[in-house]
Amino acid sequence: LPSFDPRDPLGLDDLLDPEDLAVRDTMRQWAADRVLPHIADWYERGEVPGIRELARELGSLGALGMSLTGYGCAGAGPIQYGLACLELEAADSGIRSLMSVQGSLSMYAIHRFGSEEQKERWLPRMAAGEVIGCFGLTEPDHGSDPAGMRTYAKRDGSDWVLTGRKMWITNGSVAGVAVVWARTDEGIRGFVVPTDAPGFSAPDIKHKWSLRASVTSELILDEVRLPADAVLPEVTGLRGPLSCLSHARYGIIWGSMGAARSAFEAALDYAREREQFGRPIGGFQLTQAKLADMALELHKGVLLAHHLGRRLEAGRLRPEQVSFGKLNNVREAIEICRTARTILGANGISLEYPVMRHATNLESVLTYEGTVEMHQLVLGKALTGIDAFR
Ligand code: FAD
Repeated sequence: LPSFDPRDPLGLDDLLDPEDLAVRDTMRQWAADRVLPHIADWYERGEVPGIRELARELGSLGALGMSLTGYGCAGAGPIQYGLACLELEAADSGIRSLMSVQGSLSMYAIHRFGSEEQKERWLPRMAAGEVIGCFGLTEPDHGSDPAGMRTYAKRDGSDWVLTGRKMWITNGSVAGVAVVWARTDEGIRGFVVPTDAPGFSAPDIKHKWSLRASVTSELILDEVRLPADAVLPEVTGLRGPLSCLSHARYGIIWGSMGAARSAFEAALDYAREREQFGRPIGGFQLTQAKLADMALELHKGVLLAHHLGRRLEAGRLRPEQVSFGKLNNVREAIEICRTARTILGANGISLEYPVMRHATNLESVLTYEGTVEMHQLVLGKALTGIDAFR
């Protein structure tokens, strides 16, 4: 029998082929070199100096728009994309968010719903990390229910004129291009907005206590005039943004387990070394019960992510299954971080250890890309056949 590995108790590495392992190792090494030495400082300062350079490096690793094909994208499979999300989020959810919003939201929207000209204009530079993208759906008064959005695009001759406000937009103030969803006379449409267009501004949202190593901004659209070809031609209605979100949520199913892994490993290392009452705290039954329960949820979550990845690969992943994974894994990840926090005692609240940072980050991850309650309602509807959203 193979020996028991506390870092991989179920032997889940056996599910990965050599290319998957290579992607995982590359991303893990990059995060160890470029993120981990600085992340506590960035988090404390609430900024990511050199974010553009980080984006270019992620681009050169093929991590931006990783599962898209053509236009300079890596064309990787869902398992490799998931592993990249996991490794980045094991460093910090903010850095994983940078990648997810770039690849799974803004690039995905252009790749899936854009014209050939839009794809050629934006995707190669976005894949290289030379242009950062953001995705504006949420508004101050419309979060879980985006159907009521107020941002409006009106026709003026052949031009479009956009007016409105978006809120909580990841990458907003560092973006060169914004995919903005707006109401039009023909329904909700997506617009590809160069952020240097007159009337566009993106003030940062300050005083966040979560995802501090991530740029979050408002988007203000004050009569932004765009040419006719700025609209994404291939979709009308909420189906557009919702299908992008489904793609990004898949990455979060993996990513959240990265944050959980980092917190679990910090707690395991600490429990073996820290002594109280004359012995390591890992020798107390109560600590062992915590570690055992954390390991169960961590590796069950990774197994679930893997299963859903296989379904995505086979073209059989339903949105309800994405909700299942996002709801379970983010909720369990935050619980793992909270338990890890208790094992570290007072040190658990310090930025010297990653645990509290992950726990507070996951508060955002619990809310964005569909809140816990939204995913419960999606599953509730699928289980009962009764819509309880309104
Ligand atoms: P609300 O929708 O007001 O919900 C408040 C509470 O009410 C929640 O608990 C919710 O579940 C509950 N609730 C609402 N309706 C119901 C119901 N019918 N039944 C039961 N409970 C209900 N958005 C973007 O478009 N782009 C981004 O890049 C982006 N990045 C983000 C980054 C961060 C750090 C954060 C925190 C958010 C980001 N968001 C982004 C916004 C995010 O998607 C929204 O916050 C989310 O959709 C929830 O909307 P809300 O905050 O307005 O909460």
